[in-house]
Amino acid sequence: MSVMNTTKAQVNSIPIVVDELCQACQKCVAREVCRSKAILQIDRGEPPFIDPNRCYGCRACIPACPFGAIVLNGS
Ligand code: SF4
Ligand code: SF4
Repeated sequence: MSVMNTTKAQVNSIPIVVDELCQACQKCVAREVCRSKAILQIDRGEPPFIDPNRCYGCRACIPACPFGAIVLNGS
């Protein structure tokens, strides 16, 4: 049970990209501030996404996106 709780807490601290708000910038500035390279963009012109296996939950990307497209998962 405690393992489940830990997993859920970790998931909640990982932000997500809200596709509807993301402007798919030529250069994703949120991606530039991520020191663990967890923000991946397969295609320019498409919203990036956050790899939960790389993200360590520092939240630096949240204020970095000028469009508020990155939010905490579950908030
Ligand atoms: S997450 Fe923000 S900075 Fe990155 S492409 Fe989307 S709108 Fe632009
Ligand atoms: S929370 Fe930190 S590690 Fe995770 S994607 Fe954002 S900047 Fe990268």
